[in-house]
Amino acid sequence: MSDALPLTLAATSSICPRCNTLHNGRFYGPCEECRVQLKSTMGNEARDIEVAEYVPKMNVTPNAVATKDD
Ligand SMILES: [Zn+2]
Repeated sequence: MSDALPLTLAATSSICPRCNTLHNGRFYGPCEECRVQLKSTMGNEARDIEVAEYVPKMNVTPNAVATKDD
């Protein structure tokens, strides 16, 4: 675990990965200023995500018992 990010639970200063400035943060992450910027640019806007329609594989053979007509 020598390449792990430094994790401290104390409210100490850490370096923002975005602007490389020291900030007083409890966890490793962007500083307050960057978080505000990220929120305004990536915030709560709904995004359209293309989801491929599920097409059943044709090599799947139905269970003969389950599809049996009574
Ligand atoms: Zn920052």
